[in-house]
Amino acid sequence: MNGPQTATPDYLTLRDHPRARAAAFDSSPLPMALLDRSGRVVAANHALGRLLGTDPATLTGRAADSPSVLRLDGRARDDYRAALRGRTGPTRHIHRVKQGDGNPLWTEVTLTPLSATADAEPPAPAGEAATPTTLLTVHDITERRSLQEQLRHLRMHDPVTRLPNRALFFERVAAALADSTTGRIGLCYLDLDGFQAINDTLGHRVGDRLLDAVARRLTHCATDGGTGGHLVARLGGDEFALLLEDSTGTEQATDLADAVLAALQRPFDIDGHRLAVSASIGVVERRCSETSPTGLMQAADTTLYWAKDDGKARWTLFDPERNAHRMTRQSLSARLRPAVERGEFLVEYQPIVGLADDRLRGVEALVRWMHPELGRLSPDRFIPLAEDNGAIVPLGRWVLTEACRQARRWQLEHDGPPLFVSVNVAVRQVWDSDLVRDVARVLAETGLPAELLQLELTESAVMGSAGQPLQALQDLSDMGVRIAIDDFGTGYSNLAYLSRLPVRALKLDGTFVRGFRTARHLNPADETIVSSLVQLAHKLGLTVTAECVEGQSQAERLRRIGCDTGQGWHYARPLAPDRISGLLSGD
Ligand code: C2E
Ligand code: MG
Ligand code: MG
Repeated sequence: MNGPQTATPDYLTLRDHPRARAAAFDSSPLPMALLDRSGRVVAANHALGRLLGTDPATLTGRAADSPSVLRLDGRARDDYRAALRGRTGPTRHIHRVKQGDGNPLWTEVTLTPLSATADAEPPAPAGEAATPTTLLTVHDITERRSLQEQLRHLRMHDPVTRLPNRALFFERVAAALADSTTGRIGLCYLDLDGFQAINDTLGHRVGDRLLDAVARRLTHCATDGGTGGHLVARLGGDEFALLLEDSTGTEQATDLADAVLAALQRPFDIDGHRLAVSASIGVVERRCSETSPTGLMQAADTTLYWAKDDGKARWTLFDPERNAHRMTRQSLSARLRPAVERGEFLVEYQPIVGLADDRLRGVEALVRWMHPELGRLSPDRFIPLAEDNGAIVPLGRWVLTEACRQARRWQLEHDGPPLFVSVNVAVRQVWDSDLVRDVARVLAETGLPAELLQLELTESAVMGSAGQPLQALQDLSDMGVRIAIDDFGTGYSNLAYLSRLPVRALKLDGTFVRGFRTARHLNPADETIVSSLVQLAHKLGLTVTAECVEGQSQAERLRRIGCDTGQGWHYARPLAPDRISGLLSGD
């Protein structure tokens, strides 16, 4: 039989030196005990006695898992039993044990089956002294553990406010979703209004102290009023969150938000500065089964944004309907550009009529989106989105091309004075694209004379326009294109300023005209304003178109006042191009 390649030397196994073995066991600094098959202590060393604050001899004969030795429970006890029966290799467990003086210790207890070592001994015959089958060693890991805990604390807390940070907050949200006793969860997600200004003007030191002071007040709110014990966390910057782990309903969350707003109302005295801040709070409260940590945070984020949008210094409650609306806005916004490429838009034309002779002079091009799922959408639904995300540039270019091509077709197909076409231009088209080049190219491509094109810009687009936009307006005007101010009267209404711009026409906003809709609802002030506006405009060489002319008496009054042209349902709604052809042919 082949023996092992390297046999353990006898002086190491101490096979023949039982007393030395006993002495080594006794005096080892590592707390140890030998256990028999049933888990009783056969012998315990001095180090274990010291650890447990008792004479090691008193431990002999006691079950090692008894309360006076090591308190084991649950899984630890099962594993311990399995280890005793020699069914497993060494097992290791972390336990809390109480020292003799009552101080708790964190220990790592290792059980090593002795049968697994080279020195397996035959079981002792019944009645004889128990044979040790297992070595139990106990490491005191209290210090290591407290260090670990300190590190974890550092990792999970914000140094400025000492509040739990984002990482700990998410851990607690996940835990609360799993075992909230009420099955509901609530969250107040808040952002300080005006904090950035304080930070920027007074410096980070004051900023940090303010954050700390805010944190104290929030903590007070979260523990006050008997409902207390809610987690307060700093999620970063000037964002905080209060978590209602066992939420009882919406009211509890909004009450807490009210308390927070009230608590922040008192000014803060910091480093000789009296500082005022307020907070915007997004409140979300829902059933745990219907949300996830990310779902909850997304809702809170959206709701906080609403609170800010609604005017700050307030809380706003999550509203599923408002959210659905936001989602459609988002998806509409994302689909705009591809929709231009797919040709999902069409242009309708609304007649602009001479007030003196009711003759058709021109048409305003108004775009519509034939959305494959939502159907026909009016420009109010998507123009603001297109302005926001820049899709207005390709969309506006398409409308311009389409409108000029159509106007040229009418010019070629019909005798008599030709129609002009009026195209809306958004601010961004002036800033973000080369409008002058686009217009020149479209006129050249379609063959439409520049005099038959009018561009409508709002006051805000042309006012304060230094540099590029002003130059663009001048170039367009030099080309022969007419510039009109759309919705005049809703903005600055600064006629003197307009006189210095190459503007040729004003489109009076519908709100003016509405004031004298019927004789009965006549508002003399409106009539006086409109009348002097028209006079002044004429003196400056501008023509005036009234928008939203809905009735005969309005048209009559506008004509008397001296308005040049009118547009509105009284004459016609926006129409498909062939209906305009019909009007031109006198059908
Ligand atoms: P806008 O340029 O002031 O266009 C006039 C709006 O008033 C049109 O609404 C028109 O349908 C409506 N309207 C016309 N007559 C009457 C009336 O008698 N009573 C009332 N209550 N309303 C009347 P629409 O077509 O919904 O367009 C809304 C706005 O969308 C337009 O206001 C314009 O600012 C913008 N828009 C439309 N097409 C374009 C475009 O191609 N480019 C850009 N940038 N904006 C566009
Ligand atoms: Mg317009
Ligand atoms: Mg208008």
